[in-house]
Order: sequence, then C-alpha cells, then structure tokens
Amino acid sequence: MAESMSGMKRTHRCAELGKAQIGQYVTVMGWVQKSRNKGGVIFVDLRDRSGILQIIFEEGNCGSEVFEKAGKLRSEFVAAVTGKVCERAGAVNKNLATGEIEVVAEQLRILSESETPPFHIEENSKTKEELRLKYRYLDLRRPDIQKNIIMRSKACAVIRNFLSEEGFLEIETPMLTKSTPEGARDYLVPSRVHPGTFYALPQSPQLFKQLLMVSGYDRYFQIARCFRDEDLRADRQPEFTQVDMELSFVDVDDVIDVNERLLAKLFKEIIGVEVSLPIQRMTWQEAMDRFGSDKPDTRFGMELNDVTEVVRGCDFAVFKNAIEAGGSVRGINAKGQGTMPRKKIDALTAFVKDYGAKGLAYVAIQPDGSIKSSFAKFMKEEEMQALIHAMQGEPGDLLLFAADRNKVVYASLGALRLELADQMGLLDKNQYNFLWVTEFPLLEWSEEENRYQAMHHPFTMPMEEDLQYIDTDPGRVRAKAYDIVLNGTEIGGGSVRIHQDDIQEKMFEALGFTQERAHDQFGFLLEAFRYGVPPHAGLAYGLDRLIMLMAQVDSIRDVIAFPKVKDASCLLTSAPGAVDDKQLEELGICVAETKE
Ligand code: ASP
Repeated sequence: MAESMSGMKRTHRCAELGKAQIGQYVTVMGWVQKSRNKGGVIFVDLRDRSGILQIIFEEGNCGSEVFEKAGKLRSEFVAAVTGKVCERAGAVNKNLATGEIEVVAEQLRILSESETPPFHIEENSKTKEELRLKYRYLDLRRPDIQKNIIMRSKACAVIRNFLSEEGFLEIETPMLTKSTPEGARDYLVPSRVHPGTFYALPQSPQLFKQLLMVSGYDRYFQIARCFRDEDLRADRQPEFTQVDMELSFVDVDDVIDVNERLLAKLFKEIIGVEVSLPIQRMTWQEAMDRFGSDKPDTRFGMELNDVTEVVRGCDFAVFKNAIEAGGSVRGINAKGQGTMPRKKIDALTAFVKDYGAKGLAYVAIQPDGSIKSSFAKFMKEEEMQALIHAMQGEPGDLLLFAADRNKVVYASLGALRLELADQMGLLDKNQYNFLWVTEFPLLEWSEEENRYQAMHHPFTMPMEEDLQYIDTDPGRVRAKAYDIVLNGTEIGGGSVRIHQDDIQEKMFEALGFTQERAHDQFGFLLEAFRYGVPPHAGLAYGLDRLIMLMAQVDSIRDVIAFPKVKDASCLLTSAPGAVDDKQLEELGICVAETKE
C-alpha cells in the first residue's frame, strides 16, 4: 500500500545531515537500503543520492502504529521519515558520512513498496553486467555509479562556465542532417516526407561549427551527441558525447592555450588534481619513434629504440629481410624482466601477432650476465654485444625486438610496451600525464582504397612549410592538427581549418575527390566559404572517455546513464527493434529477408 507525501516536506537529503543538525527535527525521503528488527528497535538505513542515513524506530518514540509500519519496510521500499537528529547511541560508523548520528523517527510514510530487486543495490556489485544493464534504473541507484554520473554533471557545469566566461557561445546544431566527414559509417534516418531519402545523424558537428564561424559567432561550443556506426569494440558506444568547440581568428597556440586552462580548471575543481601548465608537446613523428603510438602513455619510459643501423649487416634473416624491404628493427628494454619464463615470452609473441608482427626476437640477460636469446646463434658475439649496448641492456633486463615495416613495428612495440607496463604494475591511475601530440601527417595512405585519405578530415590545414609537397609528395605533408592525450588515451583532437579555397582545392585533389564529389558532399560549406570566411580552428573532446579517466573506472559504460552494449543494442529497452509494417509503408521502406 503506497501512501501520499502530502503534508510532508523533505528538509534534507540523507547524507546532508551530521553533527551540526543534532537536536533538529528533519524529514528525509529515500530508499530502504536495509532494515533490521532487533526486538524493541528497528534500524533502517535510508538511502538517496547523497548517501545513507541510519534511522531508528522505537515504540516509545514513535508509537505502536508507526512502529508496526516500520516493521514492514523491506529493501528498496520508498519511505518518508520525520524525526529528531541524535548522536549515535551505538557504535560510530566511520564508513558513513553520517556515521556519527542517527535519526530517531516519529513519523513514517511508506511512499512506495518494492518487489525484491533482481540484485542487491550495493557498491562494487559483482552482478553480471547484462543483468545490471537490463535493470539499469536499479543499477543507477548504486552509489559508485551515481558518483560517476554526478561527477559527469558537475564536469559539464564547470566546462560550460569556463567556456562562457571565455566568450564561447553554446549553440545547438542539427541531429537530422547530412553525412559529416569523420570517416565512420553513418546512422541513417529515413524521411517520410521525401520517400527514398535519408538524413544522417551527425558523426560530429564539424560542418555546422565551421558554418557558425562563417556566420561570425567567433567562439562556439556545444556538449553534443555524436553517432558513429563503427565496428564493434568493447570500449565504443554508437552514440557518444563530445565537448565540441570552434574559434575564429586563431592558430594552433590559441586553441591549445584556452584548452590547457580548461583542463587545469576541470581537473582541479572536479578531482582536485593540479595540471601543471604548459602541457608537454610532442610531434607525431617523435611520439611514433619514441613510443610507437600517436597517443603515448608517458607515465613510464620503456621507449622504443631504433637499432636498424646496429644490426644492419648481421646474418639474422628476420632482421635482414625487414631492413632490405625498407623497414626497421626496433626494440624495447623491459627492465628487470630478464628472468621472465619462456612461456610468458611466448605469450607476448602471440600478443604482438595481433598487431601484424610475425614474431618477437628477444635477448634475456640473466642476473649473472649470461644471455638467453631467440637469435644469438645467427649473430656474431660482437654484434650481440653492440646490440645489447645500444639497448642499454644490463643484467636482469629483457630486450624485445620487432623487425618489419615501420607501421607494424610501431604498432606492435607500442602495444607491447603498454602490455608490459600493465604486467609490471607501472600504470598508476592517480597520476595524470597530459600530452599534446602535434604535426600529424595530413594524409594517410589507404591500402584498401589505394588512395590517400585525410588523417583528421578534409578541412584540416597543412603546415605552411610543407605545402610545397602537396602535389609531388603528399605523404610528407604535416597538418596543423593536434590531439590531447591523457595517460595513453586520446581524449580530444582538432585542427586549424583550411579557409583558403586554393588550398582546399589542392587538398581535395590529393584525396582524389572530383570537383563533383566534393560539391556533392560538402557543397554547402564550400559555397559558404565564398562569402567571407575567417581563419578558424577547433577541437572536440570525447566526454565519456574523459570522465572515465577522471572517475578512474575501466568501462565507458560506467559513466553513461543508459549505455549500449558491444553489439550496439540497449538491454533495457531492447532497441533496436522491428517496427510496424504501417510505419515502413509510410516511409516507403521494404525490408529484405535477413539471414539469422
Ligand atoms: N570534428 C572533429 C572530430 O570529431 C574534431 C575537430 O576537428 O574539431 O574528431
């Protein structure tokens, strides 16, 4: 039986109470975490989003009717209680913010009853994620998830305030739109009014924010939902949130400056972390050479070492072939791992195969200085010594080498470095290492399509000094593009945009776009640029990732209220689902037989 709350008004949230309120009469409302009947006393833990409060029902204080009603309280019932805040009679609970007090109840209303929930609402639940997501509204009651969602809300408030103070205007851009140039598959929405045509959901507000610069809004931001129908990966969401911005009359340094101050403020206010400014910058080339990654985790060393010249001329076929084919030989030194069992080294070899490497060559320097190596027999003694020297190998170290095309060498050693750091316990979640990666290549060769593709997007400005190569050696051109990386995760990225039509034309040429295709896809933007376009640049953060790192959780789903799972479905609503024939008919859509 559910009662109404009329005549009762909540005075506090549960955990807003403490010693300061002792002696006051208060009214709290929330969910029953648990209740224990200890003969003459009923203890009830009442929970709301602020935390948990202990309530005590004693017949002498509340009368027999209320006492009897309190006896009916079960987990997840919703109750309203009025009573007096008192110092705790029993033991103080140091784990609770309200652990020094309790409320001695005088009135109780059961606002709503609850069936036994499919899992217990508690912190650090061991419940399977599928069940948690099916009952997400219950899962969202758990204090650890609530903490993340609350942090997210506060972070957005800080971001909004900061950007407003810096002269940014928050402007919404359409959800039903045309394809945007971020290179993923679009989610399409059929048009009823124009049968056979489709809107695309935005992969980012890119084109609209550039249009806003043309329109003179000068500084724009938006906390925007983006949609990308990408291949399934555990840490991806088909819809995700960007903190998106664009600025006029600026260059790289201006974008970096305002964003460094934003990050410093955000981390200080939300998690009390001081970000020391300026944030380190590294060119893309340096990042690849030193870390094998364009988003290096700089919390630890174990950098890549190019030993191509050191091993050139040796007889080991793996090295020889890679060098002859124009590739390289690079290694990392896993300090103190020289006694790693063979089985574990084999597992690392299997690990790098996922990144295209054919294998991993190793030298394990034993504590007594002797070596175990997969390729020593192909090397002269002095060649081996030179290699160990180049790797700064010392007794107890494990040297691991990849020999292949540069792309494969970077990818495998970059990933191996992270894997080893994880195994060796070198990744400290409390350390926040920010890094700007700059001067990305403008273009990237696509083996599949046999042509260049934009590394960022087709509106990214080439570096002035490299413009001379755009016709003759496009792969060499660097871009005014930058990523902001935190502990090996890309949390944001952006670029200075092309605002000169001759450069844009060259860019489209390099990408193999015909005039027609460029016009078809981006005609409205190109046309807008004919009416006075300011130089402009921007950046977007992936908000979900950012919050995930701030909250120190491992899953992106733990910072999104209603996330989807790996196959892009929603376990709560069962979306996506079939629709009525009538709806399809109105849309002029006919669904082909699908194979199970
Ligand atoms: N639209 C870009 C992205 O989603 C960000 C930017 O260039 O501002 O990656």
